[in-house]
Amino acid sequence: MVINMTADATATELQHVIDRVIECGFQPHVTGGSERAIVTAVGSGGSPVALETLKVTPGVAGVVRIAYPFKLASKLARSGRTQVNVGGVIIGGEEAVVIAGPCSVESREQIISTAWAVKAAGATLLRGGAYKPRTSPYDFQGLGIEALRLLREVREEVGLPVVTEVMSINDIQLICEHADMLQVGARNMQNYDLLRQLGKIDKPVLLKRGPSASVKEWLLAAEYLLAGGNNNVVLCERGIKTFESEITRNTLDLAAVALVRELSHLPVIADPSHGTGKRELIAPASRAALAIGADGLIIEVHPCPERALSDGAQSLNPDEFARLMKGLSAPIRPVATAWTAATASGG
Ligand code: PEP
Ligand code: MN
Repeated sequence: MVINMTADATATELQHVIDRVIECGFQPHVTGGSERAIVTAVGSGGSPVALETLKVTPGVAGVVRIAYPFKLASKLARSGRTQVNVGGVIIGGEEAVVIAGPCSVESREQIISTAWAVKAAGATLLRGGAYKPRTSPYDFQGLGIEALRLLREVREEVGLPVVTEVMSINDIQLICEHADMLQVGARNMQNYDLLRQLGKIDKPVLLKRGPSASVKEWLLAAEYLLAGGNNNVVLCERGIKTFESEITRNTLDLAAVALVRELSHLPVIADPSHGTGKRELIAPASRAALAIGADGLIIEVHPCPERALSDGAQSLNPDEFARLMKGLSAPIRPVATAWTAATASGG
């Protein structure tokens, strides 16, 4: 249930509503600050009917029931779209942002040359895995703390804020000391212990959609972070499992990007690298993602994809990435209409 306060509600009126929400058996989450406040009542076991009577309370503009189980992630719980500040870069603002870098940090030379190259091409955030969730235990698992140190060094030297994956609760503190944004990988989207702990930190979280997760499950995973008090959440569509498994790695569900923009106030970006698994599909999928409303992209770039220790087949080299970036500002294909056809034929 969402209680919308009037623009001129007093602090006393707001406090009264907060107290009543608690009395009715719910937890209040207040947003809006100095503007019109919104009180979202969450929890189970309370009396929604009692809450509805708040519509006659002084300072209340209206009470709205949220149909979905994700209450704080719902669009109704905020007066506008959320913007997330990652080391000075805004995700969810006017401009789309591009996060780029290797799947895994492999060496100083590899990460620094990639960072300079993606920055020159226009990326504003650097990615690089230190702890890698690999399907096989025999595959490269990441350089761990050594990679975190390299990321921090490169961040200082090149000036790009850093995004890296967290797989375990035990690493949260250390990663927070080295990175600007923590990625929850697709395989961990439903690791509720991890989500609960990340709800308590003040660093932004990039929440990837699980390979088999519905949009509702994805937004409920975001709800864990928001309920814990971390409002700096960015969603990431990275492809889901479908019957197509031979030619592409995953199926990039771009309609889900438009859907979560309808359902939620949270920014959403797309990952065409994991979403397709194929180098040649990354540029067209990137353009499509921005056209459908993505707030940004996360793209894997490696100085020599052929030698990459993980995800080489879906990594672009720096030249390919620079070409992709140029193509993102090109206008979307014009549409032939009856009117333009008639003009062209002189009719
Ligand atoms: C990655 O970003 O390298 C990664 C492992 O992503 P995902 O969790 O989407 O597979
Ligand atoms: Mn990868």
